[in-house]
Amino acid sequence: MTDILVSEIMNRLNSLFPSVSSELNSINDYTFLIAVLLSAQTKDKRVNIVTKELFKVASTPVQMLELGLDKLKEYIKTIGLYNNKANNIINLSKILIEQYNAEVPLDRDQLELLPGIGRKSANVILNKICNAPYIAVDTHVARVSKRLEFTKNTKVNKIEEDLYKVIPSEYHTIASNLLVMHGRYTCTAKNPKCSKCILKDICNSRNKYF
Ligand code: SF4
Repeated sequence: MTDILVSEIMNRLNSLFPSVSSELNSINDYTFLIAVLLSAQTKDKRVNIVTKELFKVASTPVQMLELGLDKLKEYIKTIGLYNNKANNIINLSKILIEQYNAEVPLDRDQLELLPGIGRKSANVILNKICNAPYIAVDTHVARVSKRLEFTKNTKVNKIEEDLYKVIPSEYHTIASNLLVMHGRYTCTAKNPKCSKCILKDICNSRNKYF
């Protein structure tokens, strides 16, 4: 895929989603961090249903510890892996209070050390809070990138490396959100909507799915 074609793809997706951003609801940096943690293997819509009530009672690390593990579990029990996620939220909140003055550290290495926060989540958080040019590779980004021939790799860290090389730097800040939206609504895992796709004239994967 040439640089011109990659730019054309990103331009078209950007025109389709001109003010693209994470679909996770939050009211401050801490609640965004919690929403990202909860979203692992869970749809954003489900997370937003749960956090709508949770953030009314706990929108800071101190309030989360006051709420406590058992009540937190009650709020998030409809989400997959909620036991693990609840434990991570409580432990993470303690660390934020003890080490970061109850603030979210805006450093990727420090974020990755927090319970339940990996490389992808750290990229999503810094991308949203700081507009950092980090590309977060989730299942949608991986699938769409492969179909668009941005990468042949299957390992997440290798895909991320490829995307920084293939996608022009001016798109790095919005790239993952654009690819997520395209993967969520058009280039879906099963039965992608190739006939209605804005990229169908330049995507070599289209014939595989018509
Ligand atoms: S043409 Fe099909 S496979 Fe290619 S990007 Fe569009 S939906 Fe995905």
